[in-house]
Amino acid sequence: MSKLKRISGFREDLCNLCGECLHLCPVLSLPIEDAKEEIKNLIEGKDSKYTLTKCNTCFSCNLYCPQNANPYNLILERWNDLYKKRAAPSLYRFVCPTEQNNIWQLLNIFLSNQERRWIYKWFNYIPKPNDTPLLIGNYTHLFPFIIGGSKLLDYFKPIDRIDQWEGGAYLYQGGYLDVVQRIAQRTKIEFDNWGVKKIAACLDAVEYIFKEVHPKEMGVVHAQEFVNFNQWLLDKINSNEIQLKNQLNLKVTVHDNCYSKSLDGAYWEAPREILKKCGCRIKEMKHNRKNSLCCGFGAGASWVKNISIPFDIISEGFKKFKEAEDTGAKALISYCGGCIYLLWAIKELKRSKIDIFHVIEIVRMAMGERLNYPQDHIKRAWDIIAIISYSLLLSVYKKNFFLNKLIYDEKFSSFQPKRHTLLKIMRALFKISLVRKVYALLFRLFMPILRTR
Ligand code: SF4
Ligand code: SF4
Repeated sequence: MSKLKRISGFREDLCNLCGECLHLCPVLSLPIEDAKEEIKNLIEGKDSKYTLTKCNTCFSCNLYCPQNANPYNLILERWNDLYKKRAAPSLYRFVCPTEQNNIWQLLNIFLSNQERRWIYKWFNYIPKPNDTPLLIGNYTHLFPFIIGGSKLLDYFKPIDRIDQWEGGAYLYQGGYLDVVQRIAQRTKIEFDNWGVKKIAACLDAVEYIFKEVHPKEMGVVHAQEFVNFNQWLLDKINSNEIQLKNQLNLKVTVHDNCYSKSLDGAYWEAPREILKKCGCRIKEMKHNRKNSLCCGFGAGASWVKNISIPFDIISEGFKKFKEAEDTGAKALISYCGGCIYLLWAIKELKRSKIDIFHVIEIVRMAMGERLNYPQDHIKRAWDIIAIISYSLLLSVYKKNFFLNKLIYDEKFSSFQPKRHTLLKIMRALFKISLVRKVYALLFRLFMPILRTR
């Protein structure tokens, strides 16, 4: 692959150091003078007192900046610099499909036979030029039951390649920009080899990465047209091609994910329209759309100590739940598959009563399709809690690392993970309701001690 120059999204030429971005930030809320000093330090590459250790990578500051200077991209650049110096935290291996004992490999132990069949099919299909592949992606892979077996898949060829790294979407949020550029180059070769003209992705974030970030920041222009899945879904509902047989009569609140704030909020309304069509009444959270709080995942980007990462993530997620619960809604709806697996894990650890659905599940219920809700989600949440806890234990004995290998290794990422006896024991214990309650309680008790924020 040739060496390309990256183009930073931050426009230093437009920034007048007004500090509004970090002053209005829903996480930092810095006094204006501190905000001005902080942004100056970030630009000059000096020590950051707050941002690089506290930012939740929520994108909001790009919308607060009156100059359209994209301060969020400045933060990503500084994290990229930090990655070059200190490498990635050892726990981060579990979200790298090319590292041993990653979450997808470990989850193979717990997938149902039906899930294995879906994934096997999505893994092995090679798209033909007239196909429109639907990129299932690394996150939807974790809970394939939200879309597996649905009539919605009849419109596409579902493809599951976890070593496409969601186009680099979650690495981008952590500031691993040079790695994202390599992913952009690698996916371009793959898409061109498929010869397809259109590609859809389950996540808005992935559509945005391919359509905007790769060409504008990574210097990699894809030849394909990218279809926004939510907009496609709304169009099909409006044209009656997808028929909604049931009105759900459900009071819901909507989680706007971080990537939804890109493109001036172009992603906010389609999911809301879909929910209304399905008979949902929306009660917004205090922070919504451009001010929306992160599900918690972004707290891992500004990591300080490896051991603290899960505790920082979950404690930030608790704030989201508090806002969702305050609305009095029966259900919290996410239109991002990246957030939903974490929201379910947080719900179980918080023992929150609010239901959580992906917008796809809402549509499927309105279409009259049957879901095994909430059992599938509860099972998967505890699979994931067990895997994260186990990965945290393994990470204590490992050093920080660089993400060198990008392409999936069939040998170790196969459907035959090693024995992992301890993980299996942990997961077996989590089948006992009392153990789950005690574990959740212990997690909450240790959280104030182990988190860094
Ligand atoms: S990305 Fe979000 S949390 Fe980070 S500085 Fe910007 S507004 Fe604050
Ligand atoms: S990035 Fe924008 S909001 Fe932030 S200091 Fe510069 S001009 Fe002001």
